[in-house]
Amino acid sequence: MIVKTHAIVLRQVPTANTSRVVTWLTPDHGRIATMIKGALRPKSLFLGQLDLFYTCELLYYLRPDRELYIARECYPMKPRPALRHDWKATAIASYVCDLATRIAPPHAPHAFLYHWLDDALDALDAQSGASGEICWLELKLLGHLGLTPRLQECAGCHRPLLAETNGVVSFSKSRGGLLCRPCAQADANPAQPVPPDVLAILRNWQNAASIQSVRRTRCAPRQLAVMEHVLGDFLRYHLDLPLASRDIVLRILKR
Ligand SMILES: [Zn+2]
Repeated sequence: MIVKTHAIVLRQVPTANTSRVVTWLTPDHGRIATMIKGALRPKSLFLGQLDLFYTCELLYYLRPDRELYIARECYPMKPRPALRHDWKATAIASYVCDLATRIAPPHAPHAFLYHWLDDALDALDAQSGASGEICWLELKLLGHLGLTPRLQECAGCHRPLLAETNGVVSFSKSRGGLLCRPCAQADANPAQPVPPDVLAILRNWQNAASIQSVRRTRCAPRQLAVMEHVLGDFLRYHLDLPLASRDIVLRILKR
């Protein structure tokens, strides 16, 4: 059976001779891998049609008994040229593709994840990336996965948390969000202090529909560092992922 789908290039690995194995994220079939035979030959139909971060129209032969499918045709829909030369945007694009690769189930629909990644790559192609954007993209992803961090009320006693009257609150990855001072003191697990100014930014970004809100926010390095720490811990804990690529991209962006 031939399947026609939109697909984002997550990874490509050369194999013997001129072929390569390409890992894709699709809306209806999740993460799939295709063999492209002779991809690097001068007369290959695939030459110039795909590269990392492209969204393509892909036709492949579906074989239910196989893990690796054979690609038949591929046309680039969004080549995203800025991701070939803007190193900050490329670094973030590499991280979000790695995150999607680890989260996406093989051969199972995951339309939310596909659209999250497609929108993220569009935004990075349109304008150079900054580390705050990583936090916003992670907040959006967590929302799609049903893991929205609780930032409005205490995750212990459920009382509303007003940053201006509560001062520094604490963030507990295991409780799924903020804790008021009494709940944090009673909790056996360590929690990360979150100053009121950082909490205000996190709440703003959690509700922001567009990445433009992040690009308009001026963050001090101290504020970014708290958000990166809190969200990194939360992702690792709830998704059970090592996320070495996250540490790498954050280091690159700080250079
Ligand atoms: Zn509480």
